[in-house]
Amino acid sequence: MPEGSISGRCLVVVGCQWGDEGKGKIVDVLAEDVDVIARYQGGANAGHTVHVANEEFVLHQIPSGVVHPGKRCLLGNGVVLDVLDFFEEYDALEARGIEVEGRVGVSQRAHLVMPYHRLLDKVAEDRATQKIGTTGRGIGPAYEAKAGRRGLRVVDLANADRVETLVEEGIGRVRRRMADADMEDDGRLDEAVEAALIAGERLQGLATDTGLEIMEAIRGGKRILLEGAQGTALDLDHGTYPFVTSSNTTAGGAATGSGIGPTTIDTVIGVVKAYTTRVGNGPLPTGFDEVMDERLRELGGEFGATTGRPRRCGWFDALLARFSARVNGLTGLAVTKLDVLDTLHEISIATAYRTPGGTVEEFPADTWQLGKVEPVYETLPGWQAPTHEARKLADLPSAARRYLDRVEELTDTPIQMVSVGTRRRQIIRV
Ligand code: GDP
Repeated sequence: MPEGSISGRCLVVVGCQWGDEGKGKIVDVLAEDVDVIARYQGGANAGHTVHVANEEFVLHQIPSGVVHPGKRCLLGNGVVLDVLDFFEEYDALEARGIEVEGRVGVSQRAHLVMPYHRLLDKVAEDRATQKIGTTGRGIGPAYEAKAGRRGLRVVDLANADRVETLVEEGIGRVRRRMADADMEDDGRLDEAVEAALIAGERLQGLATDTGLEIMEAIRGGKRILLEGAQGTALDLDHGTYPFVTSSNTTAGGAATGSGIGPTTIDTVIGVVKAYTTRVGNGPLPTGFDEVMDERLRELGGEFGATTGRPRRCGWFDALLARFSARVNGLTGLAVTKLDVLDTLHEISIATAYRTPGGTVEEFPADTWQLGKVEPVYETLPGWQAPTHEARKLADLPSAARRYLDRVEELTDTPIQMVSVGTRRRQIIRV
């Protein structure tokens, strides 16, 4: 692997599988060397877990960089914000001694997830014949409202008339949908909307132009990190549609979702787990059999940070990783959770898929075809030795290095970081 460190004035950290790749940990490590950290898409459906000293922080909306004192944290226009959840997280961080006041800014152009969006999510998922496995937090309906040009943005909160019109429309829409679905209205919606609007008043104090802030920071010689949620296979355009999230998780989304031009981004780090997991519905071609699935889930602690849902596990999928490298324009890879594979006798990597039409080496666009492919595996020897203490590549067992070399070759992307545990110091910088 080539020598080199992660440089650049504006870097993006993007997930390259189905999310939960350990982006939180990588962002946490990289955050030390940057000045501003911004989220560019997603909502409270994403959960990043960060371990600092003996404390665990699970962050859903506020960038995980917040645990680094003094850094500016932004939520870009591409984010959809649940204001009640946001302040719950904000206040909980303050209560745990993290100074948040004055450090968090929210784009004026970001859309709000309102209580009626949550209800719509529930109605839609209850009635759907094809269940997506959403987290039910109203993210999809909020993005639908955005695309439907009826969304409520942070900047609108300062205009009482606009708020009233948009909220009435939103409440009316969900009530009609509930009536159609014969669902009972529990009468709590108005109360929840009222609470959201009160919290909205507080939110106005945090409103900012994130694109402008980022460009001014860059002009001032500062470094920026743009943090994605979920992963490439959940991207609205490039993911395994329709089993995807409602926004662009890929690096292009970092520009549109934060308000800067694509030429400002000079570094894109793709985070891949040393194996693959998937939560929610939809195909996972390299999925394990039941016994191995359970074993890896336990070894890797593969349960959702937001929902606690068990994640399905499988071998590393080089087709997906190579596809991610391409659509994100990766400049480097960060491989996480290598230690989770420490006890395995053999480790496989999918290098191609067998399909009824022949063997393919590119990740297919047809999600139903993906559900039927048979992966072609290359099997490497396991290292069966602990890697937790490794701090440089030379500390790793040779079989682990061989595995990483193969990942690098198959993805045609240099590995720049390897994570070997949950702690900050458990990292190899290549
Ligand atoms: P994210 O949404 O991509 O940040 O993923 P999660 O928050 O679900 O993170 C995955 C989990 O794996 C968290 O509990 C992390 O602390 C943990 N984790 C991250 N990197 C490593 C690693 O290298 N080894 C182990 N064992 N756990 C890790």
